[in-house]
Amino acid sequence: MAQGNIGVTSDNIFPIIKKFLYSDHEIFLRELVSNAVDATQKLKTLSSVGEAKGDLGDLRVRVSIDKKKKTLTVSDHGIGMTAEEVDKYINQIALSGAEEFVNKYKDNAAAIIGHFGLGFYSAFMVSKKVEIFSLSYKEDAKAVHWSCDGSPVYEMEDTIKAERGTDIVLHIDSENKEFLEDSKIQELLTKYCKFLPVEIAFGMKKEWKDGREQETGEENVINNTTPAWTRKPVDLTEEDYKNFYHELYPMQFDEPLFHIHLNVDYPFHLTGILYFPKIKNNLDIRRNKIQLYCNQVFVTDEIENIVPEYLTLLHGVIDSPDIPLNVSRSYLQSDAAVKKISGHITKKVADKLAEMFKNEREDFEKKWNDIKLFIQFGMLSDEKFYERAVKFALFENIDKKFYTLDEYKDFIKEKQTDKDGNLVVLYTQDADASYAYIQRAKEKGYDVLLMDSELDVHIISQTEQKNENMRFTRVDADVIENLIKKEDKEKVTLTAEQEDALRYSFESLLNNESTEQSGKPDYTVSLESVSTDALPVFLTQNEWMRRMKEMSAHQQGMSFYGQMPDQYNLVLNTAHPLIQRLAEDVVEQTHEQVAPLSEQITAKEQEEQRLRDEQKDKKYDELTQEEKDAVSNLTKEVADLKNQLKQLYAAVAKDNSRMKQLIDIALLAGGMLKGESLAKFVNRSVELL
Ligand code: ADP
Repeated sequence: MAQGNIGVTSDNIFPIIKKFLYSDHEIFLRELVSNAVDATQKLKTLSSVGEAKGDLGDLRVRVSIDKKKKTLTVSDHGIGMTAEEVDKYINQIALSGAEEFVNKYKDNAAAIIGHFGLGFYSAFMVSKKVEIFSLSYKEDAKAVHWSCDGSPVYEMEDTIKAERGTDIVLHIDSENKEFLEDSKIQELLTKYCKFLPVEIAFGMKKEWKDGREQETGEENVINNTTPAWTRKPVDLTEEDYKNFYHELYPMQFDEPLFHIHLNVDYPFHLTGILYFPKIKNNLDIRRNKIQLYCNQVFVTDEIENIVPEYLTLLHGVIDSPDIPLNVSRSYLQSDAAVKKISGHITKKVADKLAEMFKNEREDFEKKWNDIKLFIQFGMLSDEKFYERAVKFALFENIDKKFYTLDEYKDFIKEKQTDKDGNLVVLYTQDADASYAYIQRAKEKGYDVLLMDSELDVHIISQTEQKNENMRFTRVDADVIENLIKKEDKEKVTLTAEQEDALRYSFESLLNNESTEQSGKPDYTVSLESVSTDALPVFLTQNEWMRRMKEMSAHQQGMSFYGQMPDQYNLVLNTAHPLIQRLAEDVVEQTHEQVAPLSEQITAKEQEEQRLRDEQKDKKYDELTQEEKDAVSNLTKEVADLKNQLKQLYAAVAKDNSRMKQLIDIALLAGGMLKGESLAKFVNRSVELL
């Protein structure tokens, strides 16, 4: 028996490693099984060039547990190692590599997690002693037994081993007993080794028989050695791709929409299959993630730093030996190879979508609503993707017809260009709620888009930014005649008293009664000469304010907008005979009381203005208290008088069922009349009839 000191200088290197690697102990299994697979692959290669003689026989890698001896063994029938090789690869390289590793990472425990390069040494993370039994494929080779108990001293001796290959025996330490559980090992093998290229067996297959689980005579093979992404696309059917999807995500029952098979040789190696899942209106559902493999060994499913964020909405696998795995995550993003890979994937995804759009437009339109969120997310976050996607991203109108941006511009150009040459796009977020507005738009021959996804409001801003002279406006943002202004129309004008009468009456009603519903919105009233044939009243919502509120729901730092109440504007169409008559009636009822009040207001306002003009050349500090008071008293008196005026109109409005009816009609057309207010409206309608 030979004894020696392995090339590790520090006596306590094992405890250090154990501590540092605590959170990721389980990867030892991935490392040992990978080594076994490598040894097997090497043997196959040697055999194919005639260097390894004879029949290779059974090449399965086996993982087994001996609960009594508390050992976990990984056995292969690969090339094996001679005593010299054990000395060279294990004593000198593997273990000295470990020291280097510790020195490099001792200040950065987090960087260690999930990284390759630990290799054989990681066995010590879970073992108090590790043994190697190996017989090299070389003719006349002697079997070797190596053992090491975690101190820097190893033992090595000749031994008897019948079969070619290597057994790595781990004497699991007391803190890591979980690795002696069948279920744990089964779980880890399934996680890391599911697609390794050499068969991995763990115990026997079990099946339910006579009411209990019994072992069958068949070995429990963990992996599929030729997963779909390693095969040629021409050899795969649609069915194969779907089956592989479910193999990848056994808990996923939805079918993917379509897939992209990646296969790059230059300037880096990358294979993989990406699937487009149906993405519904929630960006956070990312239960199934893209899995990253390195030569068929599972590495991670946290690939946020490898592909752009929107691509993480996709499912599937990426396999690349060129993605550096032994660096920190933040470094990954700036790595040149990773950047190229990311760029390549982006391009492939855009290519695939463009091709589908071109060749199978009808099918593409059918799938649009399922892929829209993904594409929009991509367009908003990646300029390169935007440039490609703008050619196939679709807009859907309320008649369920689809247009690209260019097609749509052409389609509405003639009718929806306003008098200033702006192209005005009308849209709705809820076709039912804005039915009345849509009808008005249609009567004018306008088209209305349906823009109801989470990202549509951002897409609208983006499209406006990139297209000068193009403006989006929600179909209920104003009366249709104002949304797309044609030539200047003839204004119908009311007297100042009529305008006051209408404005104050309606304001008093809106801010008392009607605000009881739907979370106290703010109401303003405006008078506009729309047109004789338009409705007498409309409810509109300021496009800009509304968009700010919607965007604030998704963006930090905009919460100010989110807290503002909803703001609506009641437009009274002064061109409508009903409104004109109403104005005349109110004035008739109130004129006697209003006239003297108005006179007083005008007189006081004039007086105030006169005083201000007098004082305007003096600095505020130079004014006497008396002079200051004179002005502020007048201001107050005017305000008081105006209040009286408002109260006067409010008193008239309070019992005016025509006004209430008009307000309710506006609310109803805007989909905002609900509950008690709706019931009141119905009753009042019956009374009026
Ligand atoms: P790596 O696999 O990254 O080279 P390891 O520490 O895992 O590093 O292994 C060191 C070397 O030991 C390997 O390169 C290989 O030559 C040898 N080795 C490890 N495990 C086996 C095995 N099961 N069969 C044959 N050789 C092995």
